[in-house]
Amino acid sequence: MSKVKICPVCNLENNISAILCPQCGTDISGVPVTDTQALEKNFEAPREESSDTVLESKKILQLESVGTGKIFYIDSGVTLGREAEEKDFLADFPTVSRKHARFFFSDGWTVEDLNSTNGTWLNEKKLSPCKKFKINPGDQIALSHSCVFRVQ
Ligand SMILES: [Zn+2]
Repeated sequence: MSKVKICPVCNLENNISAILCPQCGTDISGVPVTDTQALEKNFEAPREESSDTVLESKKILQLESVGTGKIFYIDSGVTLGREAEEKDFLADFPTVSRKHARFFFSDGWTVEDLNSTNGTWLNEKKLSPCKKFKINPGDQIALSHSCVFRVQ
């Protein structure tokens, strides 16, 4: 297991002591340390991507956990919940449901609340359950008061 700091701009894995990302120059002094082993299962494609594969990689939704800065890579059809995807992380949030919200990609990304106990909130508006709502970069998705993700 190795620990790295993932650049939020270009996703380069940097040494944990790095202050600036050498690839894009972003200040990563405040980026939290990530275990590469925990990330590996989320990566379908090899790290050395040619430009041909960039479009393909957009079918992975990136969600940043507000507060922790941790980035999650979500495939289309994935359900987040305390007994679903990212359950290790979500276990810390008791008000998140076992199967809370699902994400889909078709012509864009959508989020669907799975009739969760406390609801899913998109930009502070509660979503009607079991309906898909469009999401865009910068949107905030809350599964509880303290479990908020920003769409990258
Ligand atoms: Zn970078």
